Amino acid sequence: MQPIRTFNVSPFLPDQLQPLRKLAYNLHWDWNVETKDLFRRLDRDLWESSRHNPVLMLGTISQARLQEVAEDEGFLAQMERASRQLDEYLKERTWYRKQRGLGSSQSVASGETQEVNGKPQECFAYFCAEFGLVDCLPIYSGGLGVLAGDHLKSASDLGLPLVAVGLLYQEGYFAQYLNADGWQQERYPINDFYNMPLHLERNPDGSELRIEVDYPGRTVYARIWRVQVGTVPLYLLDTNIEPNNPYDHDITDHLYGGDLDMRIHQEMMLGIGGVRALQALGIKPTVYHLNEGHSAFLILERIRKLIQDEGLSFAEAKQVAQATQLFTTHTPVSAGFDLFPPDKAMYYVGHYANIFGLSREEFLALGREDISNLASPFSMAALAIKTASFINGVSQLHGEVSRVMFQGLWENLPLVEVPITAITNGVHARSVVAKPNQELYDRYLGPSWSEKGAEDPLWDRVASIPDEELWRNHERCRSEMVVYVREHLQKHLRDRGASPAEVAHAQEVLDPGVLTIGFARRFATYKRANLFMRDIERIKKIMRANKDRQLQFVIAGKAHPKDMPGKDLIRQIIHQIREAGIGDQVVFVPDYDIYLARFMVAGCDIWLNTPRRPREASGTSGMKASMNGLPNVSILDGWWDEADYVRTGWPIGHGETYDDPDYEDEVEANALYDLLEKEVVPLFYNRDSEEIPRGWVAKMKDAIKLNTPYFNTARMLRDYSVRGYFPASDRYFTMTTNAYTPAKELASWKRRLFERWYDIKIEDVDITAPPELMVNQAVAVKTLINLAGLTPDDIQVELYQGSVNADGQIVNGLPTVMNYQGTDEHQRSIYTADVIYSSSGLQGLSLRVLPKHENLSSPYEPGLVLWA
Ligand SMILES: *Cc1c(COP(=O)(O)O)cnc(C)c1O
Repeated sequence: MQPIRTFNVSPFLPDQLQPLRKLAYNLHWDWNVETKDLFRRLDRDLWESSRHNPVLMLGTISQARLQEVAEDEGFLAQMERASRQLDEYLKERTWYRKQRGLGSSQSVASGETQEVNGKPQECFAYFCAEFGLVDCLPIYSGGLGVLAGDHLKSASDLGLPLVAVGLLYQEGYFAQYLNADGWQQERYPINDFYNMPLHLERNPDGSELRIEVDYPGRTVYARIWRVQVGTVPLYLLDTNIEPNNPYDHDITDHLYGGDLDMRIHQEMMLGIGGVRALQALGIKPTVYHLNEGHSAFLILERIRKLIQDEGLSFAEAKQVAQATQLFTTHTPVSAGFDLFPPDKAMYYVGHYANIFGLSREEFLALGREDISNLASPFSMAALAIKTASFINGVSQLHGEVSRVMFQGLWENLPLVEVPITAITNGVHARSVVAKPNQELYDRYLGPSWSEKGAEDPLWDRVASIPDEELWRNHERCRSEMVVYVREHLQKHLRDRGASPAEVAHAQEVLDPGVLTIGFARRFATYKRANLFMRDIERIKKIMRANKDRQLQFVIAGKAHPKDMPGKDLIRQIIHQIREAGIGDQVVFVPDYDIYLARFMVAGCDIWLNTPRRPREASGTSGMKASMNGLPNVSILDGWWDEADYVRTGWPIGHGETYDDPDYEDEVEANALYDLLEKEVVPLFYNRDSEEIPRGWVAKMKDAIKLNTPYFNTARMLRDYSVRGYFPASDRYFTMTTNAYTPAKELASWKRRLFERWYDIKIEDVDITAPPELMVNQAVAVKTLINLAGLTPDDIQVELYQGSVNADGQIVNGLPTVMNYQGTDEHQRSIYTADVIYSSSGLQGLSLRVLPKHENLSSPYEPGLVLWA
């Protein structure tokens, strides 16, 4: 039955309870223990059955219960406190304003580009295909989404003028359950937007605010929903509306759903639609941050706008867009990037080539890694990199891997100089630290611990937390996790129609007093979830060696619906558990999500991670565990490679990589068994007369003290701001002054540079050095360069020195800028410099020319280097 009319019916709240509505619609409740508690207190059962969704709760709670709490003074007092805390929170976000030398606070989404203390207002737009904020908003699949969610929470904490853009999927990311054989089944919950913490953006006349995006042969419309994350608005596009055709309704149906064509449809909506949505909302970003390449089409739309609205040429428009764009890559394998066949790319977005005045091949070259290969695909990562002025990986090791992967995009540039840097990921402390631990840290460290950097003296106070309190707290977290796991498991077994005996038995799995190892993450095969069961007899022996020194495992994670090897891995684990008869001690908990993750990272004793190095770009669940005092046991990969892995846990191996995966598994599984046997189990069970494992607690404190301040999105956002957002935003203001004059000048300077660059000649290099050189002995170098019509202001000449490896290449080279000394009688420019070698051995020297201009984001931006 089709309705003849639909209404959005809001719950009736008694006057005294009005603040509940405000609290429910700002996700700040997720990281404020007082507010979260308030909703739990409002109706504990409804809190659980609504999937911790306060908006749905307010919509379904009985009027009688509302009347009851409206007269409950305790409840009202707590509500007032929570309400005041939210108001204060929204007012007092000061880090950003202090950094930028601004005055009192101001709302980001107010639209107009106002002047604040003489400075125009800036705005950082953050694009991502998924956001993992709270479990009642299932529009994320795993680590990327949770990271993006934490990015917004910390941006809010720091008061950054950040707005975010994504897609609102009609079907939530799937709920997982296992059939009797252990094979993953997927169920897609339908998201009921009107009962979620979402605001529909409207025009002043009350109608829905809509944007349009051109697709081949038709226009697709989208409406815009807003999620309020503290001070940060997240705008989500929704195409499930009339008059879109049924196919287009489905563009925002599934996260990463459908085939390649659907993928392009989604990415066009995210990138192109996202830019249009911000414009429709009156928001004028000064910086665009692409979190992974899915949104990279946005660059096309930005350039189009600059050409058609601002009257710039393609080169000028690209200059402005690039100067203000950041790109973060999250995968260490090229298979992880979106690649589109050239014809497909042209079919969907080729109309931009006409607007830009580019030929087919010139246009495709924007997204090609190898522009000389006309069959090569259009890569979203290449597009994002070529049009960004700040590019980063998500851990130091991943930065290195990314430089190798994309070195080809910078011809002739030594690997160490490839301008891809790293900002190590973090997690949002107030979201992932369990409530009793937050209260403990608040008490002993002070309330600002969640945002303070490692240099702050408050971290020394971790030592003053009494061992007993920390340990009792932790044991409480473990018990709570065990209780939750049992209930959760029972519910799933009942839903699956399991036998009453099976359901009853789930009440007996795990022992709340036993050393518990947690492993939970997406089930991609490279993460090797079953490595610890490689030698089942050995792990059984360790688990049961001694009645008083047992060991148990809690495992969780979803495989991507199309990842058959990942699903097979889950089934194998289930089968292995059954065959070995260890079902009480090794438990696979279905339907991993943010909520379950938070129990596990606080309630386990060890957090295990066994990826194949260097496949784990960063990994973040281990950081969550650390903040709750869990030591990590992990392969040295991603973030763990740069942590203090001796004091805050145990490393498996020493960072080796292997050619033979089977041998790798063998060696690393054995290393894990040895660690468990010789280190982990003995330390955990070594109790004093008060039953406290003092040595273990010391490691817990190190984990809290050393990892919380660093692997934290507060630090991460400060890094992105200072290294990425602020300089890019400054470039925006530079580029746009006087009707884009500097951008136009830079673009025409670049054109001249490209025209003449290949005629530059290094004509003579004169090195005065004896054949046997001593350490610290100066060598004078003089060179004559024909600048081909460029001036000494346009270029930088550098000596490049370093040791020579077995292949005859200079490694770890160090550049020294040479000094311009005028011209000789043939109008050649003279440059001189001295080099000094501070170490002995075979040392090499080279000389190079790089472009130089004050408005370049870096000398590497034009991609030109001339070597002698
Ligand atoms: C933190 C988190 C992840 C990411 O974990 P990794 O260790 O980075 O793989 C995935 N899913 C959920 C639900 C999380 O909370």
